[in-house]
Amino acid sequence: MKNKVIITGGTGYIGSHTAVEFIQNGFEVVLVDNLSNSDISIVDRIEKITGIKPEFEEIDLTDIKKTSSFFKKHKDAKGVINFAALKAVGESVQKPIEYYRNNLNILLNVLENMEVNSISNFIFSSSATVYGLPDKLPITEESETKRPTSPYGNTKKVGEEIIEDFVKIAKNVKAISLRYFNPIGAHKSGLIGEAPTGIPNNLMPYITQVAAGVRKELKVFGKDYDTKDGTAIRDYIHVMDLAVAHMAAFKRLNDTGKDQKYEIFNIGTGIGYSVLDVISSFEKTSKQKLNYSFDDRREGDVPMLYADSSKASKVLHWGTSLSLDDMTRSSWEWEESLK
Ligand code: NAD
Ligand code: UDP
Repeated sequence: MKNKVIITGGTGYIGSHTAVEFIQNGFEVVLVDNLSNSDISIVDRIEKITGIKPEFEEIDLTDIKKTSSFFKKHKDAKGVINFAALKAVGESVQKPIEYYRNNLNILLNVLENMEVNSISNFIFSSSATVYGLPDKLPITEESETKRPTSPYGNTKKVGEEIIEDFVKIAKNVKAISLRYFNPIGAHKSGLIGEAPTGIPNNLMPYITQVAAGVRKELKVFGKDYDTKDGTAIRDYIHVMDLAVAHMAAFKRLNDTGKDQKYEIFNIGTGIGYSVLDVISSFEKTSKQKLNYSFDDRREGDVPMLYADSSKASKVLHWGTSLSLDDMTRSSWEWEESLK
């Protein structure tokens, strides 16, 4: 019998890439999603890539009854990777209740049902946003966490605290939180990738949409930061390297005993690239000239953020293998496949 793993938010951007990685490593994958920010066609696309069609259930995980029967049905699962969440930073400022209700209720329902059904391994999608404006770079897991500026970001910080409290008393559940830095890129097949609805908030999908003619011009937010070229620096990580990090975390949960209740890992490359670095890589790999101009800094943005991921490298035996050029190339191939 195959190891079964539940992937919530499994038709979403990171969930779908992680599903591919798990299927290709011999796991039986069950995807659960309410399709609020993804499309059912992803299930067939995962099948095209892997040759295996994952089971899919359309459920709103804030629905206590439906979530409970879903977990009862899949009580033989070895673990849960919890991607399901609303994630638009700006929207969360306008709709704080919706964001707290959705993201925290999903987490509470999933944890409770895991305990009841003795499903032991839990992985939580956290974010570098929990560090706020860092005092020191690169950021280690020991760095102080700060209250994120947006309600979305705060659902990650509060989410981590909920897990920490819960695993102390849980008899069955162990957890790992992965603090992602900036995931970009797409699967090399061009069949799955990031598909933002409406105007993208994030840099990479904005760039590809401008190049594809969907948007007119990219605004580069800020050119007066104290960085090598004046634009802000982030730690961009290829979504497939991120998917592999989930595999490594899952293995860690399987391999460690019950006393190892909760661990946190930064998941980044450790390399900081500026907005202009990303643009220049994109222009090179896509052979497109990007239309962009400079604008004011975006409110809430920090000048520089990049990870010290040595803990993940040491403990999870994980590292990245894909470059910024791989990220921008695959993002462009994905955008082109949407035409
Ligand atoms: P995504 O929006 O593509 O995927 C999330 C999925 O969750 C969507 O398919 C959505 O339909 C589903 N969902 C939302 N609410 C649900 C509910 N109530 N019930 C069932 N399904 C629900 O987002 P993503 O980029 O793949 O992000 C995955 C996770 O990683 C999220 O938790 C996000 O906060 C976190 N994260 C993402 C980034 C990033 O830059 N993409 C960075 C850090 C952390
Ligand atoms: N950015 C930009 N123009 C855009 C979107 C983003 O210049 O249209 C910059 C943003 O200011 C930040 C970087 O690109 O410095 C990454 O932003 P993104 O929203 O992708 O991720 P964040 O690090 O804010 O979560």
